[in-house]
Amino acid sequence: MSMSMLKNFNINLEYKGNILHINNVNIINLAKEFSSPLYIYSYDALQINFLKYQNALSNIKHLICFAVKTNYNSRILKEFKELGAGFDTVSMGEIYKAINIGVDPKKIVYAGVGKTDEEIKFAIENNILMFNVESVDELNQINEIAAKLNKVVNIAFRVNPDVDPKTHHYISTGLAKNKFGIDINIIPDIYKYAKNLKNINPNGIHCHIGSQLLDLSPYKEVFKKIINLFNTLKSEGINIDYINIGGGLGICYDNNKDIAPDPKDLIDENFSNFIKNNNITLILEPGRSLIGNAGILLTKVIYQKQNKLKNFIIVDAGMNDLIRPSLYGAYHNILPVKNKNSNQITADIVGPICESGDFLAKDKEIQKPINGDYLVALSAGAYAFSMSSNYNSRMKPAEVLIKDEKAVLIRKRESLKDLLTNEII
Ligand SMILES: *Cc1c(COP(=O)(O)O)cnc(C)c1O
Repeated sequence: MSMSMLKNFNINLEYKGNILHINNVNIINLAKEFSSPLYIYSYDALQINFLKYQNALSNIKHLICFAVKTNYNSRILKEFKELGAGFDTVSMGEIYKAINIGVDPKKIVYAGVGKTDEEIKFAIENNILMFNVESVDELNQINEIAAKLNKVVNIAFRVNPDVDPKTHHYISTGLAKNKFGIDINIIPDIYKYAKNLKNINPNGIHCHIGSQLLDLSPYKEVFKKIINLFNTLKSEGINIDYINIGGGLGICYDNNKDIAPDPKDLIDENFSNFIKNNNITLILEPGRSLIGNAGILLTKVIYQKQNKLKNFIIVDAGMNDLIRPSLYGAYHNILPVKNKNSNQITADIVGPICESGDFLAKDKEIQKPINGDYLVALSAGAYAFSMSSNYNSRMKPAEVLIKDEKAVLIRKRESLKDLLTNEII
């Protein structure tokens, strides 16, 4: 098996003596020490991904806000904090988690179409940098709560630019038919309205058009629309200090198909000059492109069976651990941990859950394993553990971080007792 096929994944995985290693750590040893299923993250990979953004933006004022929803493990958040990241949050819980690891609240932005009074109060009391506001109802609510707390709150309206991100329809957010943001055509009037509210300072523009974009051209369309909007607002006396272009850069899941865009190609010279000339701070909210390919999911082959049509490899990780294949039909590459050069078979790799949608891969060509062998699913750092559940009363897996060629446990495997937490009999 050629390892050059992994070069687009930006993670150091290689076979040594036929055993797959991550950053020189033997994955069979990790399975023995921490059991399976197990999420494994590479610090080196997430650091490289972060530095790519930082280098790309080195000559403009910027804040890179890691999208917490992609991977909310507190240790992962702490590593990003120490690299200089801020945080893009979508709930009170995410703000709480970020503050709990000691992040400067002036590096936290808060989006979401359905912020409750309790969440708005919590965010204002914690002095976050700004709200990304998605409706006039929400604006009025923030103004009212800010008045009670005697604060003036920075807000950016989330603009819906009606630009097609050309990605999966579940993860496109910037089309007029999506629930997100406010129609760009009516937004200047809404800024004027906001400017007259006593407890609101509308000094930002926010936009996030979707996720897993492999083509950067939709961003160029967005930049044009943002520049136009900025100029319109300026002529109306509304000053913008922050422009937030969201996240969305895609990663390589399928080596035969996906070429991940490079952050250095995101901001063209025209947009960069515009940011500089107007003394704007550029905010980005990358999630998947920082952590997606920094994680893998280790799983063990339990049984195998065949019927007239198919081979099935039954593994100990299910859709409760990694739901992306079931939810979006997403592709995850799967590798054997022990490279045996045995016969290739074509098999569905399925989990133990009582749902036909419970699979990690369909019709996957893979070396024929024996029961007890380990496999890893690649690209499992984002929207992976963070979407896990206790469905089928399964305990959530442990998580480890590989740093300096050592494995550190960053979340304990759940126990049977954990399954009873908060239940009242
Ligand atoms: C999900 C989300 C992101 C992160 O998107 P990625 O595709 O993971 O980079 C950023 N901003 C907002 C508002 C989001 O909802």
